[in-house]
Amino acid sequence: MTDQSQQFASDNYSGICPEAWAAMAEANQGHERAYGDDQWTARAADHFRQLFETDCEVFFVFNGTAANSLALSALCQSYHSVICSETAHVETDECGAPEFFSNGSKLLTARTENGKLTPAAISEIALKRQDIHYPKPRVVTLTQATEIGTVYSPEELRAISDTCRELGLHLHMDGARFANACAFLGCSPAELTWKAGVDVLCFGGTKNGMAVGEAILFFNKKLAEDFDYRCKQSGQLASKMRFLAAPWVGLLQNEVWRKHANHANGCARLLSELVADIPQLSLMFPVQANGVFLQMPEPAIEALRARGWRFYTFIGDGGARFMCSWDTEVARVHELAADIRLVLQD
Ligand SMILES: *Cc1c(COP(=O)(O)O)cnc(C)c1O
Repeated sequence: MTDQSQQFASDNYSGICPEAWAAMAEANQGHERAYGDDQWTARAADHFRQLFETDCEVFFVFNGTAANSLALSALCQSYHSVICSETAHVETDECGAPEFFSNGSKLLTARTENGKLTPAAISEIALKRQDIHYPKPRVVTLTQATEIGTVYSPEELRAISDTCRELGLHLHMDGARFANACAFLGCSPAELTWKAGVDVLCFGGTKNGMAVGEAILFFNKKLAEDFDYRCKQSGQLASKMRFLAAPWVGLLQNEVWRKHANHANGCARLLSELVADIPQLSLMFPVQANGVFLQMPEPAIEALRARGWRFYTFIGDGGARFMCSWDTEVARVHELAADIRLVLQD
């Protein structure tokens, strides 16, 4: 028996959105040049340059771990270090890939407030040691939206990039949920990236309706030197690149990416509102993007699992995480909220 009911374990439980699917089908006609020399790759890259209102360098890879690891390795030498939050995906969920692809650049974790780095936390780490025995800080990486569903405002980003500039650090953004952050703030992609001092963005497609694929955007084009070789060497140069690029065309046209992110964010907000009055439960973090983190008693968590719900409890201090996606059904959000209420009444 297969159960295809919608779950809230991750936004990557969802399928492919119709717009990405249609673009894939359109790209699936005839022959095209390989390895990114095709019209779809050129079109997708141009869409990004239009959307971000700047002439950035654009690369396409298969997943977020590769995007982050390769981008970070382009920004530092092996003796450098990368400052990230203690809850960063690069630190906790990439199996050491950033260190591996950079030949040993060390990740240094900084404390966070609501999942976000601060100028003070960055300075503290960067200035802690300046001797030859310590890996030299070279990059700051932050996640937008964060792993716990919060979002950096443009002002917060600018304060961080000012600090980076003072300290001689590059600024990288893990944007696995960048669309959700833009949707929450109602900001343009440019305002949340290069206009706020971000050098490189990994823009996630998978969690927002694509089958596979993340785009890496270098706003500081000098940093992209030889990046194509890095992609190839790490097995991330798709020979049939048109199928990584075409879904981006589907997503970037007509602001589809923003529509899907808005929907996911709205479902998360709805879930948090539907359970807000339950006394035995507390919201762990503000609900800004598409995730809801709930602190509840262990028996309730078990009872919820027994009722067939899947969700993670290892992210963000042991609470239960519920992620909404581009296709989350509002009725299913109500079902989940009703079951949460039920298991807390027992
Ligand atoms: C999902 C995710 C990624 C990408 O993960 P992959 O499984 O490698 O595609 C990167 N960063 C964050 C914050 C994520 O949530």
